[in-house]
Amino acid sequence: MATRFIFITGGVVSSLGKGLASAALGALLQARGYRVRVRKLDPYLNVDPGTMSPFEHGEVFVTDDGAETDLDLGHYERFTGVSATQSDNVTTGRIYSDVLGRERRGDYLGGTVQVIPHVTDAIKKFVTADLHGEDFVICEIGGTVGDIESLPFLEAIRQLGNELGTERAMFVHLTLVPYLAASGELKTKPTQHSVMELQRVGIRPHVILCRCDRPIPDGERNKIALFCNIRAEAVVQGIDIDTIYQVPIEYHYEGFDTQVLEHFKLDAKTKPDLSVWSNIVERVRRPDGSVTIAVVGKYTDLPDAYKSLSEALVHGGIANNARVNLNWISSEIFEKEDTVEHLNGVDGILVPGGFGERGAEGKIQAVQFAREHNVPYFGICFGMQMAVIEAARNLAGLEGAGSTEFGPCRHPVVGLMTEWQRGEDRETRAADDNLGGTMRLGAYPALLKPRTHIAEIYGMTEIAERHRHRYEVNMNYREQLEQAGLTFSGTSPDGVLPETIELVDHPWFIGVQYHPELKSKPFEPHPLFESFIAAALNQSRLV
Ligand code: GLN
Repeated sequence: MATRFIFITGGVVSSLGKGLASAALGALLQARGYRVRVRKLDPYLNVDPGTMSPFEHGEVFVTDDGAETDLDLGHYERFTGVSATQSDNVTTGRIYSDVLGRERRGDYLGGTVQVIPHVTDAIKKFVTADLHGEDFVICEIGGTVGDIESLPFLEAIRQLGNELGTERAMFVHLTLVPYLAASGELKTKPTQHSVMELQRVGIRPHVILCRCDRPIPDGERNKIALFCNIRAEAVVQGIDIDTIYQVPIEYHYEGFDTQVLEHFKLDAKTKPDLSVWSNIVERVRRPDGSVTIAVVGKYTDLPDAYKSLSEALVHGGIANNARVNLNWISSEIFEKEDTVEHLNGVDGILVPGGFGERGAEGKIQAVQFAREHNVPYFGICFGMQMAVIEAARNLAGLEGAGSTEFGPCRHPVVGLMTEWQRGEDRETRAADDNLGGTMRLGAYPALLKPRTHIAEIYGMTEIAERHRHRYEVNMNYREQLEQAGLTFSGTSPDGVLPETIELVDHPWFIGVQYHPELKSKPFEPHPLFESFIAAALNQSRLV
């Protein structure tokens, strides 16, 4: 079947869950036996979100092929299991940078380069490129309808809608239907206005998803249908729910996927099998036990900065039938207050990825607490580097051990690698490269040492995990650190780069240079998170 395109826009306010709606629709279509791909167009001018602070934009999600993308791609992967690639996320910045690059090369043969058709053509090309027989492409347009910056995207999808026809394209618009306590009513006017705005640019939605905190009565539903020029069945409500993994079930119940299939004149009568989702929800809602994990990081006020991480911890809980309570601790607090005050009684400590010196000493103290008190410790990327510094200072007696990320130090146990191997290609990076291009990014293979704790957890010795970092643990210190008790349990296949470390005399102490959280799924929890939560459950039974 020719690929069909479903465009998802949002109106009224941001943060309505467009990403989740797109991901959930992907899961629903898969449950009907279709092949899907979920993509996102982001209207900002950054070429990719890699240079944006997590405070600005939340987590940067890294794909296998090394793209730094929007965190919504994480939702898509967690709901559909389809690995995202470079060609699934584009920003206005990247589109313009490509168009301008072509202009400089003279590709436009002296023509005037314009938003329509040159920019819109580039967008259309992106949306329709690199497909491999998928039945559906679900394409989310970031931002809110009415913003100046999303106009070229809306124009491009309008054109695509016209070129492909309703048989192959459809538009879904997500809006807010707020409840006004003063009048005791759900209000439809914001939705009407948002749809008017969309129609002004030539797009008529076929389905309107309405976020609300209570059921929408027939009267209001009919009103939205009437004013927005669609059938009442195509007004689909999305009520707030307790767990995101209930979203596919809820949207199916409300008829979202049915509306989509009917639009494309495809069979909508056979019921999809949603038991995967109901099993997950059952485990989330009715756990057997619970654990408390302290996440000691920098962006702890903004959970979106650690989206995949908190989801992966939930997945670890699902695998163990346990509720995972997250205790977000800003590591800077340990500059003033003792670790014991904050970490006593937690069942596991995790130091996540991070950049920069601020709060680093606090993270090192958290590692020390975990090591000395036999509390399960999981160090991810920066968290592994901090564990190595801690071991260097306190086990190997290397006074002044540190990372060159914070400036020169006496024992640079973590430092900048200027050269490393990826397959046959030799890649290099220098300290003064531009910020977008200096990181080890994407999936790299690693070899685990047989009979180590981590090899036992994975149940294999050859793995591939996603990376996003500039610094590496310095192999020149390997021997000294191993003698002090820190095992280098995994390296790159050529043995040049350290990938994982562990402590033997400890119930669970593992550091990984990569980001395992990026590959965890609710229906396929990552083995490291499953094992870490299991260790935390054991810990909780000790105290
Ligand atoms: N700042 C460290 C580096 O660049 C760690 C990065 C991370 O945790 N993702 O190597």
